[in-house]
Amino acid sequence: MEKIIFLVDMQSFFVSVEQQLHGYSPSTPLVVSGDPSRPSGVILAACPLAKRAGVKNGERLREARMKCPHLTVTPPHMEDYLNYSIQITRFLETFTELVEPYSIDEQFMDVTGSMHLFGDVWETAQKVQELIDKELGIRARLGIGTNKVLAKMACDLFAKKNANGVDALTLNQLSDKLWPLPIEDLFRCGRKMSIHLRARGIQTIGDFAAMDAEAVRKEWGVHGQVLWMNARGVDYSPVSTETLEGRKAIGSGMTLPFDYIHKQDLHTVLLELCEEICRRARKLHLAGKTISVAFSGKNGSFHRSSTRDEATSITMEVFETAAGIVQNQWKHHPVRRVHVSLSSLTPDDTLQLSLLEDVNEKSSRHQIGYTMDKLKEKYGATAVIRASSLLKSGQAEERASRIGGHYK
Ligand SMILES: [Mg+2]
Repeated sequence: MEKIIFLVDMQSFFVSVEQQLHGYSPSTPLVVSGDPSRPSGVILAACPLAKRAGVKNGERLREARMKCPHLTVTPPHMEDYLNYSIQITRFLETFTELVEPYSIDEQFMDVTGSMHLFGDVWETAQKVQELIDKELGIRARLGIGTNKVLAKMACDLFAKKNANGVDALTLNQLSDKLWPLPIEDLFRCGRKMSIHLRARGIQTIGDFAAMDAEAVRKEWGVHGQVLWMNARGVDYSPVSTETLEGRKAIGSGMTLPFDYIHKQDLHTVLLELCEEICRRARKLHLAGKTISVAFSGKNGSFHRSSTRDEATSITMEVFETAAGIVQNQWKHHPVRRVHVSLSSLTPDDTLQLSLLEDVNEKSSRHQIGYTMDKLKEKYGATAVIRASSLLKSGQAEERASRIGGHYK
């Protein structure tokens, strides 16, 4: 049976929350800026009114004020945004239990099994929109597809441009709707990749979809192959509630190709897992205090936790704690399966720091994490890997290729 997946995106999420909580009028051009007191502060979000005046996310306040002199500026309140995001998840869960927060203002939901309770696809989508509007005063846009990639592209490429904010992308619409679009519009086709593709004469998503699978694999490896599948509307990743439970703990594990008995090898794997969970934590704007490590192998299993003074989502800090657990408690039994998790989660306030100009050491480490995430998102999970992952015990590259990597 074909699945029915929605991607629910909140329009101008940060500013909408500010408007709701602080009573700004919709006729006030409002922006959220990392540092409202400085002209060099960066615009994190702009309301539709400011956007119409030409204000863009990521530009400096100084530039924004030139375009829109009466701009009202507020600092970000990440905890409020996170609370709204969690509330939205709860509302979406009244439609289906399969809800996956994808970013702070976007969530996937799989309504295949429950939609009959609400009407047809369009009625269900409308009910989702109405509920979020009624309860939270936020406008949601919905992309509908038979998988996550189609739902995401339906939202970004069509629903956001529609008056009613809902649109669908089905497999039999690909040739009419998706393929004529420029290659840059392909989901997760980064700038660098689209330059490569254009250099090969590929201008549209359809040009890419028409390429031979083997040629794609030879030229661009696994990353290219996954993109190529997306261009053909293929995506096998399920809507996973893991990130939901993940609000209590974010964990990741892997089975190793052989028994690991050297601490150095385990460190390599631990670092990879820490990187993965921290990346997911940062995506949800969360940080955690408690780090748990579990090993299992032919001589039994091992599970220990350690709690830090302060919550973190910085890979190296989580890794230091995980490595400390191994150092102090592991008795050199062979390890075949490793699991690491981060719990005692709280909203990640250090994000605000990383958006300011004068970065201190902590926030610049934090910034590195976000930058690496962006690179991975654009160019695939193996775009940036730590040198240690190139050692024999490293699994990052192999894992990424197995699971379609940049997709996670
Ligand atoms: Mg949005």
